[in-house]
Amino acid sequence: MGLPVSFEFFPPKTPEGVEKLRAVRQQLYPLKPEFCSVTYGAGGSTQEGTFNTVRDILAESVPAASHFSCIGATKTSVREQLATLKAMGVKRLVALRGDLPSGYGAGGEFHYASDLVAFIRSETGDDFHIEVAAYPEVHPQAKSPESDLQAYVTKVRAGAHSAITQYFYNSDAYFRFVDDAYKLGADVPVVPGIMPITSSTQLMRFSDASGAEIPRWIRLRLQAFGDDTASIKAFGLDVVTDLCDQLRNGGVPALHFYTMNQSVATLEIANRLQLS
Ligand code: FAD
Repeated sequence: MGLPVSFEFFPPKTPEGVEKLRAVRQQLYPLKPEFCSVTYGAGGSTQEGTFNTVRDILAESVPAASHFSCIGATKTSVREQLATLKAMGVKRLVALRGDLPSGYGAGGEFHYASDLVAFIRSETGDDFHIEVAAYPEVHPQAKSPESDLQAYVTKVRAGAHSAITQYFYNSDAYFRFVDDAYKLGADVPVVPGIMPITSSTQLMRFSDASGAEIPRWIRLRLQAFGDDTASIKAFGLDVVTDLCDQLRNGGVPALHFYTMNQSVATLEIANRLQLS
């Protein structure tokens, strides 16, 4: 049974990285992604790299989504960037608050992603399909699960068309989140974000920062593999394929893969799920 997919990349920092990502995209394109998205460093730190990668994807005749974070931004700077993205032919945005690196003052004219969504809609109407972030396991800075759910509903009411979740390894959290959001009237599609497991240390680091929970049994199994990367990858493929299968059986609208600019794990999972 097929299911639409999308892929997320980050902007490479070196010419070699740009070439490698080009090759990675070509390996993934046979899966016919709905779109490929490119992350954006909060405070505009990767703007040039993000826009260049988005341009490359569009030049390959694949729809591209530009992530867009608003923390520290002004209305004038956002307006200018929207005009640039529109001129590039971008039709999809992932609208985020973002996290400023420590040491930066908050500043700026936007406090939350909902402010950005409302601004984009008021400035550009329906020109862009707007995605927002969703957190089935609750955003790490949220005051409470209820306030976080309400913040999500506010983003949808502000004009988001769909959402992509933070990654998770517990499908119950996702289905509960979608049910609760729908009950509050936020009934846009919520696409689960899928993080393939290829490295134990990397996963632990990301999860600590993002608040995504690694279930105890997965954490312990990964720790027990130590430096045995082949076993980590084999176990990771089994776990993430099972997760995707549960999600598909539960009727998710699509799968969004956090590729980390790599193709092997995503391709293998897609192959096992017979997505192509
Ligand atoms: P918001 O929705 O604004 O929420 C941020 C926090 O504020 C939450 O705790 C929420 O509960 C709270 N909140 C929201 N509204 C209110 C309100 N009115 N009153 C009180 N509290 C409120 N980061 C990047 O820097 N670049 C990227 O490219 C990037 N891509 C991402 C893609 C996806 C799919 C996801 C899930 C995350 C991504 N992130 C990215 C990380 C994201 O920027 C961080 O998680 C950030 O801390 C929150 O961004 P947000 O858009 O979810 O914020």
